[in-house]
Amino acid sequence: NTFAEIDLGEMMNQNIRRCKYLKPTPVQRYAIPIALAGRDLMACAQTGSGKTAAFCFPIISGIMREQYGQRARGGRTVYPLGLILSPTRELSCQIHDEAKKFSYQTGVKVVVAYGGAPINQQLRELERGVDILVATPGRLVDLLERARVSLQSIRYLALDEADRMLDMGFEPQIRKIVEQMDMPNRGVRQTMLFSATFPREIQRLASDFLSTYIFLAV
Ligand code: AMP
Repeated sequence: NTFAEIDLGEMMNQNIRRCKYLKPTPVQRYAIPIALAGRDLMACAQTGSGKTAAFCFPIISGIMREQYGQRARGGRTVYPLGLILSPTRELSCQIHDEAKKFSYQTGVKVVVAYGGAPINQQLRELERGVDILVATPGRLVDLLERARVSLQSIRYLALDEADRMLDMGFEPQIRKIVEQMDMPNRGVRQTMLFSATFPREIQRLASDFLSTYIFLAV
């Protein structure tokens, strides 16, 4: 029951130690190995459970393992490999801060984009290249419409606090976003859906967006 037993690689283990995470929380202990095995995942997890690391670690580790050196990531339109959708600016910024610590010195670049703030600074940041984009759904749709982000290369998708995103009325935007990933590369994408509750609408989202998936309740 240690992070070293979960095969994340020495570099990530170092970053985990730097974060002073001594041992995995329950959601991390179960979700990370499932995700590293390439399976889709629907997890019922509350705020404070350590869910951010549960979806960030496998994404960062996957990008390090498989895609390193194959990335054409700068330019006007960027092609992230990982996408993390979250409901609010605050949550997106928190995920971004944590993901940056987890990916320290790995070469994996994380960028955040959220609504309610000027877009220009975010555009400049994106132009410098991005491997993992953390975004709120509305701002991402805007970036897609401006052709500044393409989702054609997405290999990893995490939906955080999916129930809250639906409560906030983001379902049309989320569907639009996922549709763009499905056109060229259905089946390539690994999807993780995190939600505090599991009502019918979330079950529908899971069956629409996930391949045969593992359900985890901790
Ligand atoms: P989250 O549920 O992802 O928002 O995480 C809640 C808080 O717990 C954050 O401050 C994390 O940095 C922290 N945390 C996450 N995983 C661990 C861990 N394995 N050990 C200690 N702290 C952790």
